[in-house]
Amino acid sequence: MAVDRRERVTLRLCTTALGRAAGERNSSVGESLDARLGSTVGQLGARTCPQCAADVPYDERFVMWCSACDWNVDPEGEAPARGRFEAMQRRLAHRHGEQLHAELLAAPNASAVTNRGVVARLVAVCVHALTAALAGAGTLLVVLGWSTLVQPIVGVILLLAAFVLRPRFPRLRHDGRVLRRADAPCLYALVDEVAAALGTRGVDTVVVDAQFNASVADFGLRGRRTLHLGLGLWEVLDQQERVALLGHELGHYANGDPRRARLIGTALYSLHTWLYLLTPVRAVHLRRTALEMVTDLLMDVPRWAVYGVTLLLERLTLRDAQRAEYLADRAAVRVGSAAAAAGLMDRLLIGESIAAALRTESVRAQTRIGGVEPRAAAAGLWERIAERAATVSEREYERLRRVGVLRGHSVDSTHPPTHLRRSLIGAGEPGSAAVVVGPETADGIAAELAPARSAVAHAVIRDLAG
Ligand SMILES: [Zn+2]
Ligand SMILES: [Zn+2]
Repeated sequence: MAVDRRERVTLRLCTTALGRAAGERNSSVGESLDARLGSTVGQLGARTCPQCAADVPYDERFVMWCSACDWNVDPEGEAPARGRFEAMQRRLAHRHGEQLHAELLAAPNASAVTNRGVVARLVAVCVHALTAALAGAGTLLVVLGWSTLVQPIVGVILLLAAFVLRPRFPRLRHDGRVLRRADAPCLYALVDEVAAALGTRGVDTVVVDAQFNASVADFGLRGRRTLHLGLGLWEVLDQQERVALLGHELGHYANGDPRRARLIGTALYSLHTWLYLLTPVRAVHLRRTALEMVTDLLMDVPRWAVYGVTLLLERLTLRDAQRAEYLADRAAVRVGSAAAAAGLMDRLLIGESIAAALRTESVRAQTRIGGVEPRAAAAGLWERIAERAATVSEREYERLRRVGVLRGHSVDSTHPPTHLRRSLIGAGEPGSAAVVVGPETADGIAAELAPARSAVAHAVIRDLAG
């Protein structure tokens, strides 16, 4: 799922400072919005917008902003581009992002396989083939040139290089609580059901931690599947939104994304190792000798070639990574329903706020503010976090969506902006959920997660204060 960091916006106490006015909006849109949301004007008070004089609802828990003219909608604002090159990159990212969104809007059954992806995989295979060639040449030199002195030495160097450049498969992460199938039969059964509905198999391991995130990844040589569930996100979702979340994650498997990511990821790792090996290390203050200048020049050619291939592979995969997220969202809709997938998108907008709330809980307990005891703070942590998420007003969600629209596309994000993901979810057929969680399953999963919830809550209270 991986939340786009640029989409994370902090809930802040109301600020009366005049924020950046970000674009003009038709006032009737704003008025109808506040009417539609059952404006809180009068309940919590109102102020006047300094920009268009409209009434602005006042709620001290959230940023005060004007829905008619967007006054103070994004008080933090986006960091300005550093130089012309970054400005151009942003424009390109925006154009590509809009194109991709339009392309998928017009193709409800778009395939996960693209020409770009095929080229990227070919490049990755070539990178690994080069490593295999080094290993082969090294072995031949050692075996066939045994009678000479030089050939085995060169052969060993080539074998060493191949060893350093070999594809490395990630290991299972141990920075969370690992739940095996026997520990959580109900959770695994739900994961299996979601996977079957999408035409794939379930996972081999579930790892639970405190993050506001979820993801899937392969680990080990045999490509065993792991599902990472961050309780910061899981706990603020309702049952059907959790199904949508599992649908999104397993949708990545159904579309073959982790397999492709593994091939390309290992190739990128090899390329970065090449770059490291080809970069000369020497003290900058020393003058280079003529010989060193010649060797540097000789190394420049392969270094720039490797750099070019690395850049090409990263560019080719970035756009497909965004496309994969949209397609995984479609899987979320199929298993969890469009409403649940849209709800999930909304929750993603409050990630920064939830992360800040977890830190605050930790600081309060560690400093004993208000007599809070760490053990007691950990006990009801996830309930308080869920409660906090439930009280975020629809008006605040609307503001966060508008911030997403204003900030647009990130240059290097593997995720499209959340508002565009939500718009694509809304554009499809509503349809019914393929998987529905009954109360028994929900209770079973809650009981299975209880030890991990408690352990992770204690770790949050102990560690997040720093
Ligand atoms: Zn995803
Ligand atoms: Zn206004």
